[in-house]
Amino acid sequence: MSVRRLILLLGDQLDPQISSLRDADPEQDRILLVEAVEEGRYVPHHPQKILFILSAMRHFAEHLRKQGFTVDYITLDDPANSGSLDGELARARKRLNPGSILLTEPGEWRLLERFRQLDWPELELRPDARFFCSKERFARWAKGRKQLRMEYFYREMRREAGLLMTADGEPEGGAWNFDADNRKALPRGTAVPEQPHFAADQITVEVECLVRERFADHYGQLDGFDYPVTHADAEALWQHFRQHALASFGDYQDAMASDEQWLFHARIAAAMNIGLLDPGRVCLDVQADWQAGTVPLNAAEGFIRQILGWREYVRGIYWLLMPEYAERNAFGNQRDLPEFYWTGQTRMRCMQQAIGQTLEHAYAHHIQRLMVTGNFALLTGIEPKQICDWYLAVYMDAFDWVELPNTLGMVMHADGGFLGSKPYCASGQYIKRMSDYCGGCSYKVSEQTGAKACPFNSLYWHFIMRHQKQLSGNPRMGLVYRNLQKMSDSKRDALWDWGEHLLARLDAGESL
Ligand SMILES: Cc1cc2nc3c(=O)[nH]c(=O)nc-3n(C[C@H](O)[C@H](O)[C@H](O)COP(=O)(O)OP(=O)(O)OC[C@H]3O[C@@H](n4cnc5c(N)ncnc54)[C@H](O)[C@@H]3O)c2cc1C
Ligand code: SF4
Repeated sequence: MSVRRLILLLGDQLDPQISSLRDADPEQDRILLVEAVEEGRYVPHHPQKILFILSAMRHFAEHLRKQGFTVDYITLDDPANSGSLDGELARARKRLNPGSILLTEPGEWRLLERFRQLDWPELELRPDARFFCSKERFARWAKGRKQLRMEYFYREMRREAGLLMTADGEPEGGAWNFDADNRKALPRGTAVPEQPHFAADQITVEVECLVRERFADHYGQLDGFDYPVTHADAEALWQHFRQHALASFGDYQDAMASDEQWLFHARIAAAMNIGLLDPGRVCLDVQADWQAGTVPLNAAEGFIRQILGWREYVRGIYWLLMPEYAERNAFGNQRDLPEFYWTGQTRMRCMQQAIGQTLEHAYAHHIQRLMVTGNFALLTGIEPKQICDWYLAVYMDAFDWVELPNTLGMVMHADGGFLGSKPYCASGQYIKRMSDYCGGCSYKVSEQTGAKACPFNSLYWHFIMRHQKQLSGNPRMGLVYRNLQKMSDSKRDALWDWGEHLLARLDAGESL
């Protein structure tokens, strides 16, 4: 029987509703899933991330077979596997001679270009409809605006989606944003919800062996993998979050605590990004919980803003500005990424904690990414490409469309300020306020210079002085530069010199 259509599904397209599967016919169409070594290696992805994606792909293939589809599944260890997605598509095309080939547009510019360049007349690329805002809708919103502020985009999305809106078209609670209520540190002794567990089945065990064999040289530990790889388990994780953590999500969204990696976070980004959970449904559930009175408005709005606002906005920025976006380096940073980002071997307790749990679970929450590992990279002037590649490699949820704007834009301010009207830079005082890390640190957060001083302090002022020309005109930086002016010359010099000393140590390959 000849194949009418060949449908290529990528590892982050494991959604039965994905556009390439729309109107698919098990009788006439063939589905292709490929484990491509090239995709696992173009940055050294965390072994748990590779395990997660490959196991979810194999489970989804099983699901499709149960629906009656014929699935050509090319495993990593298939001797004929060419190692690349387009290479395998070319082989399948030759083997099956399909009437047409369908693919939902990849979420990564690199891959989309590669498929476009194939220039095969029978290849149809369909838009990815798993988002609230299409690429075209975002471009229309952005057109003619001087500034692309997330807050204004988010309001339009709220209106369009009708989420948390009154019948009169006003935001519920009389405000669009309850962020001011969402910056609490975690009070000592607060009980944090237990996490559900997901035992490895035969498929996951097999993939784990394969990953251990093929990616042993990658950063991060494989043992202890405990994350959903099916739609049913992703749903269980989501329902657990709704029941046990969502109500406190708003309050403690920015808090950090020693040896508590999940706190009141949902852990759903990875599942959502590969198609195991639907973001639209997730937002409706949160709205329903607020309507039912089980979660407060600051939690519901805060959570919906992350998905309907930030997640959609960063994707919009990515597709609007790629490929040139990836090359931006507004501060002209050149410094290499310190080795301890890959090992966690540093005396800075906040960095140890954030990197340590990343090694262990391929996870850190937003504020750890932004204000600890990100803040350090910003203050020390790490080359954007190197820090972006690190984030892309180490987090289970990392995909280029969402990782790049968050890192290059939000963390490094390398795009000149699309994602933040000012850089998210902070001294050790911010970390002290939002965590209990400083108490157990070898450094003293109260000291500015000298061997015992918290490195974030002098590095912060060094960054402020180093970029005075670019940043002092920014109204949101006015207070910082007035404080700098008020400092005595000797204090300014001491901070500069200690900052220089720390940077020289990094350049010499030392850890801090
Ligand atoms: C430097 C840096 C890199 C990041 N890289 C990624 C990435 O590669 N993939 C990714 O999904 N998220 C990324 N984020 C955003 C955010 O940190 C993660 O989505 C979040 O930590 C995932 O954990 P969670 O599911 O427990 O999220 P929660 O804290 O429970 O938040 C709920 C959901 O909101 C969404 N969300 C929250 N903030 C953002 C944001 N800034 N951008 C996009 N979505 C957001 C996510 O889908 C998340 O699952 C990055 C943030 C920073 C600062
Ligand atoms: S003292 Fe400084 S380096 Fe140590 S945990 Fe606090 S902020 Fe981090």
